[in-house]
Amino acid sequence: MMQTALAHGLTESRSILGNGLGFTGVTGFSREEICCLALKGISTSTVSFPDSSTYTNETHNYFSAGNVVQPACVFSPEIAEQVSYAVRIFNEVNCNFAVRSGGHLPVPGSNGKSGAVLLVTTKLKTLDIHDKTARIGPGNTWTNVYHETDKIGKVVLGGRIGTVGVGGLILGGGISFQGSEHGFSCDSVINFQVVTADGQIRNANATSNSDLFWALKGGGNRFGIVTAFDMKMYPLSKITGGTVTYAYSSLPLVLEQVDIFHRRQRPDPKISFFINVIDAEDIGAGQFVEVVLYYGKPSSRIPGTLKPFFNIPGLVSNTVSIKSYSTFIPNGREGLPPGIFSHTWRSVTYQRSAAVNKEIAAIFAEEVKKFREVQTGHQQPGIFTLAYEPYATGMLTAGKKMGGNALGLDEQEGPLMLSLLTYSWINKTESETRTAAVKTSVERMKQFTLGMNKHIDFLYLNAAAPDQDPFQSYGKANYERLREIRDKYDPKGVFSVLQAGGFPL
Ligand SMILES: Cc1cc2nc3c(=O)[nH]c(=O)nc-3n(C[C@H](O)[C@H](O)[C@H](O)COP(=O)(O)OP(=O)(O)OC[C@H]3O[C@@H](n4cnc5c(N)ncnc54)[C@H](O)[C@@H]3O)c2cc1C
Repeated sequence: MMQTALAHGLTESRSILGNGLGFTGVTGFSREEICCLALKGISTSTVSFPDSSTYTNETHNYFSAGNVVQPACVFSPEIAEQVSYAVRIFNEVNCNFAVRSGGHLPVPGSNGKSGAVLLVTTKLKTLDIHDKTARIGPGNTWTNVYHETDKIGKVVLGGRIGTVGVGGLILGGGISFQGSEHGFSCDSVINFQVVTADGQIRNANATSNSDLFWALKGGGNRFGIVTAFDMKMYPLSKITGGTVTYAYSSLPLVLEQVDIFHRRQRPDPKISFFINVIDAEDIGAGQFVEVVLYYGKPSSRIPGTLKPFFNIPGLVSNTVSIKSYSTFIPNGREGLPPGIFSHTWRSVTYQRSAAVNKEIAAIFAEEVKKFREVQTGHQQPGIFTLAYEPYATGMLTAGKKMGGNALGLDEQEGPLMLSLLTYSWINKTESETRTAAVKTSVERMKQFTLGMNKHIDFLYLNAAAPDQDPFQSYGKANYERLREIRDKYDPKGVFSVLQAGGFPL
């Protein structure tokens, strides 16, 4: 069946391109339009053009409005063989393309380019649950994965917001609620099914293409298009979790508790949390602090170490209760519907430090105030968010036990904190002023961490800004190794030159 479809596609391509599938200078079409027509030969339902509702839906299916582009067409493969065929076509015709999974990376151009072919993984929805592992296509979101794993009392290490894509999150590392116990999401992948630059569908695992296996654990989109992830599953029945919201003035006390927990030599690995400091005054939603708490056991008794969070003065609401994991994970973000807001973000990583946490909060407040003063009168309404995401040392050690990843984090330096500053605003304009303001703020934060001797030169790819260089931050040896592996599997630079988006390697 597939062979027939591919043969049909090749015939279609040849009629457009000439025999030998070589680009022969067809006039009147861009290379990308030729690719679109050739792809249409595989199956008309996989390609959509600007006049269709599928095209409109897919090209707006981004978390950030700033990522919306007008590609030549949208290609939605249903099986790995169609991805393989597409990569061969891109190669032959030299056309630009971009790959998008859940569309949650708010870096403009990282997951789409006007005029290029947009390959979306929407229909690569394999979800096969086995006894100990799950095969997950990049077209899934974590919400539908957790619905299935919940049914058998298991979990995979995925996103903490259900709408995030499987593809980008794992390839950039992946921080889950189970990370302190089992490492990054990528550490729990036992096999990547990946289409490499020559169009081959390969398995990358501990014994087959093991160099590629390592590179895909943090190497982003530079090595191929992943069509399925085989992930380890871990036992998980009901959990205890929810969001505790506080008045903005409680922030110093919340940060104090965060540090007490973070300072523990052996924190309970079943506990995980992150903090959002939110200033949404401009949209009339006020300022507040939320702590998202997770305890990976159903417990009517909250562990003692978490109790102080419930006694902080200024507590406004508390949704912590026993629930299924899929119910706990939000399927979207209150007040931030995808595609209406634009977002720009930047992060800094440092070793645990109460003083740094405090100063980062102070810089955040000062810089937001400054931004408002400068912009008064003509800015789009916006939201300013500062997130604190602790990395317990266990998250760094667990990865090593699973064969290691490309991220280059040293367990000796743990526990770590990632602070992520995000400005969100309605509409697409003003991207430059907001991005510049975020950069200035995070540079100040970085200088402080350096001054305190707490700075860690690690940029989390999944929280990096467009002008940053996450791969260089993995350390010289890992950076060089990634480049060697890239050159081995992609000597012509299909995923570096023809593919739009991605961080430099
Ligand atoms: C609301 C929100 C919540 C988040 N929560 C978390 C969290 O809990 N933990 C965490 O670690 N991160 C989190 N993130 C960050 C998130 O991991 C990154 O934004 C990630 O890139 C999103 O993946 P995606 O597939 O949705 O994005 P996309 O924008 O579709 O993809 C990101 C990049 O990966 C490439 N890519 C995607 N799929 C493939 C594939 N199959 N093969 C090859 N390349 C591919 C794309 O080309 C693109 O460059 C969150 C982000 C947001 C906006």
